[in-house]
Amino acid sequence: MTDEPDVELEARLEEQDSFEPPEEFVEQANVTDPGIYEEFEENWPDAWEQAADLLDWDDEWDEVLVEEDAPFYEWFVGGELNAAYNCVDRHVENGRKNQAAIRWEGELGETRTYTYQDLYREVNEFAAALRDLGVEEDDVVTLYMPMIPELPIAMLACARIGAPHSVVFAGFSADALATRMNSADSEYLVTCDGYYRRGDALNHKEKADEGLRGVEHEVEDIVVVDRLGDKLTHFLGANYHDYDELVDDHDGERVEPVSRDAEDMLFLMYTSGTTGQPKGVKHTTGGYLSYAAWTSHAVLDIEPEDTYWCSADIGWITGHSYIVYGPLALGTTTMMYEGTPDYPEKDRLWEIVEKNAVDIFYTAPTAIRSFMKWGKEHLEGRDLSSLRLLGTVGEPINPRAWKWYYKHVGDESCPVVDTWWQTETGGMMVTTLPGVNEMKPGSAGPGLPGVDAKVIHPDKEEVEPGQAGHLTVQKPWPGMLRTLYQNDERFVQEYWEEYSDPDSDEWIYFPEDGAKVDEDDYITVLGRVDDVLNVSGHRLGTMEIESAIVGVPGVAEAAVVGGDHEVKGEAVYVYAITEEGTDGDEDLRERVVDNVEDAIGPIARPEEIVFTPELPKTRSGKIMRRLLEDIANGDELGNTSTLRNPDIVDDIQQRVSDD
Ligand code: ATP
Ligand code: MG
Repeated sequence: MTDEPDVELEARLEEQDSFEPPEEFVEQANVTDPGIYEEFEENWPDAWEQAADLLDWDDEWDEVLVEEDAPFYEWFVGGELNAAYNCVDRHVENGRKNQAAIRWEGELGETRTYTYQDLYREVNEFAAALRDLGVEEDDVVTLYMPMIPELPIAMLACARIGAPHSVVFAGFSADALATRMNSADSEYLVTCDGYYRRGDALNHKEKADEGLRGVEHEVEDIVVVDRLGDKLTHFLGANYHDYDELVDDHDGERVEPVSRDAEDMLFLMYTSGTTGQPKGVKHTTGGYLSYAAWTSHAVLDIEPEDTYWCSADIGWITGHSYIVYGPLALGTTTMMYEGTPDYPEKDRLWEIVEKNAVDIFYTAPTAIRSFMKWGKEHLEGRDLSSLRLLGTVGEPINPRAWKWYYKHVGDESCPVVDTWWQTETGGMMVTTLPGVNEMKPGSAGPGLPGVDAKVIHPDKEEVEPGQAGHLTVQKPWPGMLRTLYQNDERFVQEYWEEYSDPDSDEWIYFPEDGAKVDEDDYITVLGRVDDVLNVSGHRLGTMEIESAIVGVPGVAEAAVVGGDHEVKGEAVYVYAITEEGTDGDEDLRERVVDNVEDAIGPIARPEEIVFTPELPKTRSGKIMRRLLEDIANGDELGNTSTLRNPDIVDDIQQRVSDD
């Protein structure tokens, strides 16, 4: 790390709007041939076989893609495989039993390493235990667990016996657990007694018990992991079991991995619910696993000898695809961290990178903005030279945050992949290939090879470069959701109805995000289409305005919402967090206004700017804009129960009325 002051860095990097992949990276990258785009186009859909070929199949597929019942597409039809076998057994068989599969670090600093042999043993024993409890193929097992190794073990144990899992993020409430168990008719629950957050032991089991009271059907069995070491004395009935005892009872047992049809459900995952009711997204065994493995190989550039770290929670799709299934299918070492990034100090993540010599790091823009806010001094004492590739997912990343990440974490020697995708897509869709494409900060990149991403107008014509429109995907892909659980109708409504034309059998997937495209087909995702303001008849994307605001040095994060306005219809309301050491004063306010006017035009001039220490966020770190809208309009506040930081709402209201 150099001592170059931020000002110079800003000046130098600000100028630069594209970056070539570093040569040393390209030399060793998994995918380096630019011809891969053409190869997929010419040989579509058969080119997808190279994704499926990353796996071991019990039975080869007969057909790559069956489109007969579109949009209920089927992939690798006739093929059979087992996901746990692919993520564990085959690496043991291939002579890598002593390699670390999972390296886990608890918040208090304790560590555990599972070699592939350890993982094999543990997954088998727990699979035997689940079966003994009565779990059968196709029974949905709910996993309400924090970031402890027993979570991926339980996922793989389920996969081994063909029981789909439904992971419920541990930070979710008892109600959220009940809703999801009810929706999935799930009769089995694996949970734990508690876990650590900022040094405190949280009582998780109490929440699980409360959730269970809201389950409308009979729950057969509940398995509880003893994370806190308090010997779990508070079981509520005979159907409660201690995880360790179960595994001990099945010591040394082996369970033959069940051959699953490619199209059999691997898991169910409810979307984060940033907009409306969570949807039960169904992912399959063959297509999903191929896609997770392929994107891990092509985009994350994962090799078996790497130590790879995705700092998401396994409770989100990112953790499913890129902590568990993708990395383990490729036989690498995947890291898990239990705690928060600023505990005990703000350099915790960098300490983990240094200690484990992490090669690849994948995180979210919201985390990167926190790192920026905390300041680069927290990285400076740490040796991050092991890093080879950086990634982000979850939200648009503004160029300033991208460049900060590139410079201060990657030391200008790691490509940064900005990956657009969703729970529904199963894996990455729009991003650069790090060994092939140049990077343009703020723009995710082109659709991946074989992914037909297009930005279109309501008339389905593609937009001109520079114009905004709706992001669509015009061909199916192996990782796509197959339906919403027991709700085929809503599946068609949510994702296909807007742009498809069933009469001519034309199916267009609409992810409900807005985007722009440039002359090189690079896509800049602007956010959800419902996050568009109508100011005096001009449609303005909130993300674009936000990007202009966080482009102002001193502003760490911003949320823009529309407030009712007598004349304009809607007006731009800004809620912004300042960086540590910066005051939210008149001067900063002016600079924000100037930057917005420069970037978008006077039409986007903010009506009001409120500086606040935090923004209301969901548990997955996404800003709850609808609450800010309520505040802007002086309306009664909507539900705040899914917020990570509910107290901030009052605080912001106070600031607004003080102004
Ligand atoms: P719900 O669908 O229940 O409202 P959600 O959309 O927040 O919740 P996810 O599937 O976790 O649930 O998030 C996917 C969304 O996140 C995308 O549709 C997009 O809006 C945003 N997103 C993800 N990655 C990126 C990225 N790299 N750039 C821009 N936006 C992104
Ligand atoms: Mg969504």
